Amino acid sequence: MKLDVDALRYLSKDDFRVLTAVEMGMRNHEIVPAELVERIAGLRHGGTYKVLRNLLKHKLVHHDSSKYDGFRLTYLGYDFLAIKTLVNRGVFAAVGREIGVGKESDIFEVATEDGTVLAMKLHRLGRVSFRAVKSKRDYLVHRSNYNWLYLSRLAALKEYAFMKALGEHGFPVPAAVDCNRHCVVMSLVKGYPLVQIKQLQNPDEVFETIIGLVVHLAEHGLIHCDFNEFNLMIDDDEKVTMIDFPQMVSVSHRNAKMYFDRDVECIFKFFSKRFVAEGDRDEEDGVEYDSEENGRPSFLSIEKSAGFLDKELAASGFTKRDQDEIEKFIEGGPEPKDGSSSDDESSGKEQTADEDNETVTTKMVALQLADQQVKSSCCNDEERVEENLDSCNVKVVRENEPTASGEQEDSNDLDNSDDDGSGDAELVKRLNKQRKRAVAAARGRRALASRNSYKDKGGKSSHNSKIQKQVSKW
Ligand code: ADP
Ligand code: MG
Repeated sequence: MKLDVDALRYLSKDDFRVLTAVEMGMRNHEIVPAELVERIAGLRHGGTYKVLRNLLKHKLVHHDSSKYDGFRLTYLGYDFLAIKTLVNRGVFAAVGREIGVGKESDIFEVATEDGTVLAMKLHRLGRVSFRAVKSKRDYLVHRSNYNWLYLSRLAALKEYAFMKALGEHGFPVPAAVDCNRHCVVMSLVKGYPLVQIKQLQNPDEVFETIIGLVVHLAEHGLIHCDFNEFNLMIDDDEKVTMIDFPQMVSVSHRNAKMYFDRDVECIFKFFSKRFVAEGDRDEEDGVEYDSEENGRPSFLSIEKSAGFLDKELAASGFTKRDQDEIEKFIEGGPEPKDGSSSDDESSGKEQTADEDNETVTTKMVALQLADQQVKSSCCNDEERVEENLDSCNVKVVRENEPTASGEQEDSNDLDNSDDDGSGDAELVKRLNKQRKRAVAAARGRRALASRNSYKDKGGKSSHNSKIQKQVSKW
């Protein structure tokens, strides 16, 4: 997906305020009613409607009037919120070229103030109707507060927590830098995905290292579940780095052995196809799992210690509950491969930017945000929106109960929808009307949920802890 961060620089404080209001509203509304956005944002004189028009123009929100007048964030809107937060935190200062497109993510180079180049992964669950999620549709139908943004955020948190914990235990993974919403920032791996490597100086050594990693992970109680040539990077010295962790499961998972065997088999197949001479390959065909004679490590004979990383994972804010939650959706990564090779499976889905892998800093777009505020003011602003949300006393209601058939299409629509409303004269008219109505109402009485109305209430500390709870839930 194209990520044009140029617009980010020109967005005002009010733009972000309303964008955040839509995000808050999406906690309990799939489509957030326009009036609710207005009440949460709490801008004076109907300012919200004017801002919404601007957000629509930039495709940061999507307008939906099928049931009532409402808005939802697009992935681009969610990207902007995450990027702005990370820029304000000082994690990076510029966004560069796209370096990878995964099954469910986009990866970009970003640069820090001092010019260090890092990798930013934006999770996009639901973009591809991958089978594991599809098979969980029944579950989705009965879930009240599900949405794709929430799942992407959970996937990012899981990835960040695992990357950090694995790094601390000496696994060759990118260094986890920070995480916000659906976005993970990590060190840039200076190498190429194994799938792009045509020749190795020491194929046997690399193979041993990679198989050793699967075994070592299991000893630490973990199975990668998507361990293949797309998720292993090799540098010029043939050093291996493993990436992509949102689908990892514990060795105590009921399908653990199958996942482990599948990971091992992927590597055996890939190496035998690409790096073993034609004559030798035949010997590898038709082998059974767990047969030591065939060189496959046996899952059952590995000494495993489940729960080994639990403490580290919890330290990153990734709880057992989060793990259970996300497993319901992306359990085990892709569905078991029915005989097809990993190349066939993934070639269409996963590709990497063809350009050479040299670090390019020149094309970075520096993010001098229009509302250059002191770092903390962003949080204050978000907090204020939170306050408004709270004082709106939003009930947990679900407007559009998804249908088993409709949900996937709907979610895939997040970004692809043509109907961004920007050219819709009817919508503009309606927004203007609403705006006028809001201005009139504001003249007559104080906005229902203005900042001041909150201040009058007092009891800030208990309110704040409530805010914190909400924030950590989202
Ligand atoms: P997905 O979960 O969507 O498969 P990945 O994490 O596997 O996403 O990343 C997709 C591609 O992006 C990788 O194959 C790789 O080429 C590139 N990539 C991901 N992380 C990094 C990184 N830290 N440094 C350099 N390239 C990366
Ligand atoms: Mg991947």
